[in-house]
Amino acid sequence: MPLIDKFRRPITDLRISITDRCNYKCVYCRTGNEGALYGDLPFEDYLRMARVLVGMGVTKIRLTGGEPLLRKGVLEFVLDLAQLRTPNNGHGGRNQGREGDQLDIALTTNGHLLADLAQPLKAAGLTRVTVSMDAVDPDRFTRITRVANGYDQVLAGIRAARRAGLWPLKVNCVLMRGFNEDQIIPFGMFAREEGVIVRFIEFMPLEEGRTWSPNTVVTLDEILARMAEYRPLVEIPHARSETARRYRFDDGIGEIGIIAPVSHPFCGHCSRIRITSDGKIRTCLFSVWDHDLHAQMQRGASDEELEDFIRGVIHKKEERHHIGEPDFVPASRTMVHIGG
Ligand code: SAM
Repeated sequence: MPLIDKFRRPITDLRISITDRCNYKCVYCRTGNEGALYGDLPFEDYLRMARVLVGMGVTKIRLTGGEPLLRKGVLEFVLDLAQLRTPNNGHGGRNQGREGDQLDIALTTNGHLLADLAQPLKAAGLTRVTVSMDAVDPDRFTRITRVANGYDQVLAGIRAARRAGLWPLKVNCVLMRGFNEDQIIPFGMFAREEGVIVRFIEFMPLEEGRTWSPNTVVTLDEILARMAEYRPLVEIPHARSETARRYRFDDGIGEIGIIAPVSHPFCGHCSRIRITSDGKIRTCLFSVWDHDLHAQMQRGASDEELEDFIRGVIHKKEERHHIGEPDFVPASRTMVHIGG
């Protein structure tokens, strides 16, 4: 039985947060405190969770955090994940196919430690990487991340990832009004010059500081209008479960994506679940509860019992988020402690 929720959405995409520590304090995410709230698990525990879920139909795993590259042993973990094979259940996404297909293993990172790790990660079996970068100007970058001298390191990380052949190479920029909406056109130029896919993300109410309001969101329509002042964009098709709407510039050089969960929600095609660094399943970024998979393992559950537990959890996956609606209830964790 493939993993399908009660709204008939196939669940093929797993995000595992391997730590909720982060070395950055981005204004749209953190209040500025350093610490991990929930801690992390031995890699062998995440590996067992991944193995069970891959056996149930997951075809793509994204490692995230916190900052995943802070975790020692990440290379060995990628190596172990790369040994997992997807069964042919007819519900895989891009990886759908013959029994024994390789997993798509992706990473989301702030890029600070990527320069030295890109090539070893590729060699270990990582397929692709997404680097978060919210300004293409060093001073602005520091104002947003609240970390000095990070810009050059992140740029070096992006270039190392491209050299290592980690492709598609995506650069994610969260736009927050008052901080970086003037970076839209510079990022368009950056996409063309650096040969990366730049994706703008609408700011969501998942930050520690609770500063979100509809006015702080720079919307898809606004991004498109601003970019059109630079060069015309042409929309290109995207997979239904893909989070980003995709565009290329009219001369074919440079790709832009826009992830617009606030102004253009895509919950109807959501194929994702998340495992937090402390081993809880979250069925939506905006869940108000989570489901303790690690506790099941600790009480000695067999793989079959874990599968039953997971099916029960998937059955409860939320239909959609309620951002901006009167009945919106904030998520029970903020982004850094969920894993984006
Ligand atoms: N440390 C890694 C990084 O910086 O990419 C991985 C974790 S970070 C929480 C994952 C993604 O969530 C990043 O692209 C980040 O920009 C995004 N993010 C964090 N807070 C957000 C918010 N309130 N709204 C939208 N995206 C957010």
